Amino acid sequence: MVAETAAAAGHSVSIFDQRRSPGRKFVLAGRGGLNITHSEPIDAFVDRYGPEATLLKAALDCFGPDDLRKWAADLGESTFVGSSGRVFPESFRSVPLLRAWLRRLDELGVVFHSSHEWLGWDGDRQHKAMTFRDSSGTEVSHDFDVAVLALGGSSWPKVGSDGSWVETLRAEGIEVADLSPTNCGVVVAWTAHLTDRFAGQPVKNAAVSVAGTSVRGDPIVTMAGLEGGPVYAHSRRLREQIEADGFAEVTLDLLPDLDVGDTVRRLVERRKKKRSTSTWLDRCGISPVGIGLMREATANVLPTDPDALGELIKAVPLRVESLAPIDRAISCAGGVCWSQVDDHLALNAISDTYVVGEMLDWEAPTGGYLLQAVFSTGRYVGEKISLD
Ligand SMILES: Cc1cc2nc3c(=O)[nH]c(=O)nc-3n(C[C@H](O)[C@H](O)[C@H](O)COP(=O)(O)OP(=O)(O)OC[C@H]3O[C@@H](n4cnc5c(N)ncnc54)[C@H](O)[C@@H]3O)c2cc1C
Repeated sequence: MVAETAAAAGHSVSIFDQRRSPGRKFVLAGRGGLNITHSEPIDAFVDRYGPEATLLKAALDCFGPDDLRKWAADLGESTFVGSSGRVFPESFRSVPLLRAWLRRLDELGVVFHSSHEWLGWDGDRQHKAMTFRDSSGTEVSHDFDVAVLALGGSSWPKVGSDGSWVETLRAEGIEVADLSPTNCGVVVAWTAHLTDRFAGQPVKNAAVSVAGTSVRGDPIVTMAGLEGGPVYAHSRRLREQIEADGFAEVTLDLLPDLDVGDTVRRLVERRKKKRSTSTWLDRCGISPVGIGLMREATANVLPTDPDALGELIKAVPLRVESLAPIDRAISCAGGVCWSQVDDHLALNAISDTYVVGEMLDWEAPTGGYLLQAVFSTGRYVGEKISLD
């Protein structure tokens, strides 16, 4: 996005990427449906960035969700709003949009240097040149008037963003908050009994609660723990609890449309003498995987008293040991600290060098907020460079 904006303003632009083809993570993001942005009102939209909302606001003002949708439409990929308010390209995928975008960059004269690993600055040149390792293993040096670092976080390293830049920047005295997984699954020490029967199954229409905040959806039981939208949405809260206590407490509400009183009433109404507890729970609308989780939480000794059973249905406790590993996370928290850049995202320590995208220290939930901030920071810096 920086390259497009600066090249359209008449600058000569080169892109260097360590992968053989550009936008690998963008392509990966489109595999399950490319959720490019969100349609909610802009104030609510900006709030999704939590404590970093004020820092990202200038970029989001410069290039917001409507601008992004127009940009995609200009590239031949109209967008539509899904039932949840999320915005997707008509094709649902990244590839048509990426192809059209690369054609446009080519027409603008942007030169793409693939298989060039960025190694840092050329030590002898006082930050006036950068060094790269090309595909033959040769180190090459290039001079630029302006450089923009857009090296991503460190999730899914096989698609290119491996976070190797963290130590390079730290060596220059630039403060970088540790990269940690976000929008990721959690690790729960399930018994083999649970995973044998239920790994891979969603808990339909549940509410996942952490520290008093509840998110509805269909969490999925995996071999390692839990995955899915309502789990990802708690990433920040979970990380903070784990950092403070060494673990996090999560509860699952298996009947989120009923309060405890109605749940207990339903249990009493549907109780029959000869029914097993599992059949009784099944008749009350608890799925087999839900019953499995209740058994897991009680060491397989389910209460038989409707009050206690009702309480359990409304808050099945889970102990989360850790977040899932970063290499399978959707995004990263941490990155270049905001104190290290000026209002235009230029590094204070190194002149004429900017940072955009996931490299900066912000996080947001899934829903299109990640790509929107990445595009917005790119356009914001592109416009600044173009004006200079
Ligand atoms: C499975 C998955 C699904 C996702 N789905 C969505 C979604 O639907 N909606 C959404 O908003 N977001 C989604 N995301 C997140 C989104 O893809 C990222 O936030 C976004 O791609 C980050 O953009 P970026 O330009 O900052 O970094 P990246 O897209 O990671 O690009 C960084 C580039 O820098 C290159 N690079 C890194 N280090 C070096 C180096 N040393 N030398 C040279 N090149 C280097 C990499 O090869 C890479 O091409 C998803 C992510 C994943 C993993």
